[in-house]
Amino acid sequence: MCDDPDVADDDIAGAVPCIRCSRDALLNLAGRCADCIGDMRLRNVEEHAAWRAELAELVRSGELAGA
Ligand SMILES: [Zn+2]
Repeated sequence: MCDDPDVADDDIAGAVPCIRCSRDALLNLAGRCADCIGDMRLRNVEEHAAWRAELAELVRSGELAGA
């Protein structure tokens, strides 16, 4: 997360661009912003399930703590 050479630490300051819509989001879980998570849940159940699995994997690997 913090070792991405393309991202300057000063630029992120807590906001991470969503990998789905490319917008900066303070709330970003497994790469998706809250808007996308809500959109997936409402309109794209399969993508939402895939994201949930990805998130669970991040938590298991310790990359994402406390989710
Ligand atoms: Zn998004």
